[in-house]
Amino acid sequence: MTNRHSKAGHQPQRTCVVCRSQKDLKDLLAFFLLPEGLVFDPQRRVQRRRQYVCPDELCLRGLDKWRRSQMKRKFRLSSISAIFPRPEQT
Ligand SMILES: [Zn+2]
Repeated sequence: MTNRHSKAGHQPQRTCVVCRSQKDLKDLLAFFLLPEGLVFDPQRRVQRRRQYVCPDELCLRGLDKWRRSQMKRKFRLSSISAIFPRPEQT
C-alpha cells in the first residue's frame, strides 16, 4: 500500500494542457510557447510563464494541436486589435 500523501510534503500540482489532468510537477514536462514554436525547458532555467504536459505519447501528440489553437487565438486577437484599434483615452 502506498499511502504517502500525509507528511511527505505537498507536491506542487500542475495541469496538463492537453488532457487537463492534475499531476505532480515533477511528473510533467515544462515548456513554453514562443511564436516560433514550443520550447521545452527541463532544467527550468528560463524565467517565463511555463505550461505543462504529460510526458506520454498521447499528450505530446495532442500538444501540437493545442499549440496551433493557441497560436490561432493569439493571432486572431492581435489582428482584431489591429483592425479595430482602441479609442484613444483622453
Ligand atoms: Zn496529459
